[in-house]
Amino acid sequence: MARSCDAIIIGAGPAGLATAAALQARGLNAAILEKADAIGAVWRRHYDRLHLHTDRARSSLPGLPMPKAYGRYPSRASVVEYLEAYAAEFALKPIFNAPVYAVRHEGREWRAEGGEDSRTAPIVVVATGWADYPHTPTWPGIDAFAGEVLHSSRYRNPAPFASQRVLVIGYGNSGAEIALDLAEAAVDVTLSVRSPVNVVPRELFGVPILFFPAAEQWLPPRVADALNAPMIQFAIGSIEKLGLKRSPKGPLQSIAEDGRVPLIDIGTLDAIRGGRIKLRDDIASFGRESVVFKQSPAERFDAIILATGFRPDLRALLPDAEGVLNATGAPLVSGRATAEPGLFFCGAIPSALGQFRQISVEAQRIADAARA
Ligand SMILES: Cc1cc2nc3c(=O)[nH]c(=O)nc-3n(C[C@H](O)[C@H](O)[C@H](O)COP(=O)(O)OP(=O)(O)OC[C@H]3O[C@@H](n4cnc5c(N)ncnc54)[C@H](O)[C@@H]3O)c2cc1C
Repeated sequence: MARSCDAIIIGAGPAGLATAAALQARGLNAAILEKADAIGAVWRRHYDRLHLHTDRARSSLPGLPMPKAYGRYPSRASVVEYLEAYAAEFALKPIFNAPVYAVRHEGREWRAEGGEDSRTAPIVVVATGWADYPHTPTWPGIDAFAGEVLHSSRYRNPAPFASQRVLVIGYGNSGAEIALDLAEAAVDVTLSVRSPVNVVPRELFGVPILFFPAAEQWLPPRVADALNAPMIQFAIGSIEKLGLKRSPKGPLQSIAEDGRVPLIDIGTLDAIRGGRIKLRDDIASFGRESVVFKQSPAERFDAIILATGFRPDLRALLPDAEGVLNATGAPLVSGRATAEPGLFFCGAIPSALGQFRQISVEAQRIADAARA
């Protein structure tokens, strides 16, 4: 049976909730379909020590500031609590255990096909996030590796790795924090870094780092990067001395041109300097108990953590939508009209503002476009 409403939102994470509240404020009634059994399902299963890297003030969703009691960088548990409070504040009632398998055209509307029933609406907002699409690269010999290999999205805490030799592959925000988590628990941890990086401090002179891209939005990213570079260099010191390569593009240019967010350092560089995290280069191949690096000798490891990011692929979810996804299934635009009337994505593309902030901006824009 197909039921109709003003809009269908797929996902009850920050993007789905913020969009639902924004639509409601404009008099539109949205059905939020969530495949999990609770709000903020992805934040419930992130690793234990996670705190927002972006500050509370710039991570709140529209209409409800995060409480001061959460501190400047709220914990994972506080984020979950906040998302619940957000839904309660706006009386949002997601339909749980409602996975959407495909969204198809139905006349001039959209039909979201789920398990037991389907819904139709003129507007559909895909707010499914990235968590379902862990990127797991492969290397020669990895299938024969005897130890555990897990993606960062399945890492919870250092306990299972006590007295093991762990290799974390990838120096993004998750890889850096997981390596630090392991090092602080005295686990023998090595970080494999393949590419040049952009590292920024969480704060500059006591001001949260996100203040700067927000204040410099009117400048071309390359110019803003040039302005910020001396302060960032002063705050984090030389990363080249540690053996890391600095990205030829600055942080803002990298986000704007390649969708690559910078690494917000919360102590990993100090742990590398102190020798508590060892650095190695790119991986050439795996042995049964070892890893061969491209520029350094093979070493033995007990476990591998792939902090290799996420690659959303929405082709199966949107089988007959045209001109909205790139060749690998990632949305071409987010938070604005797509090539398919009535179809929107929220929070689908990384932003210099921080993703929560970007979601807030996009939710309002989508609601305005839906109301028009
Ligand atoms: C480790 C980590 C730390 C982060 N830290 C920050 C930070 O400090 N600051 C910041 O601004 N951003 C951060 N982000 C980025 C981003 O803000 C979060 O990932 C945020 O949760 C994204 O919200 P979302 O609603 O787009 O996606 P999600 O939170 O992933 O929510 C998507 C929801 O959709 C549901 N869903 C998916 N597919 C379907 C389907 N087919 N049918 C029904 N339901 C479906 C999922 O179950 C989920 O509940 C972080 C991301 C990660 C991975």
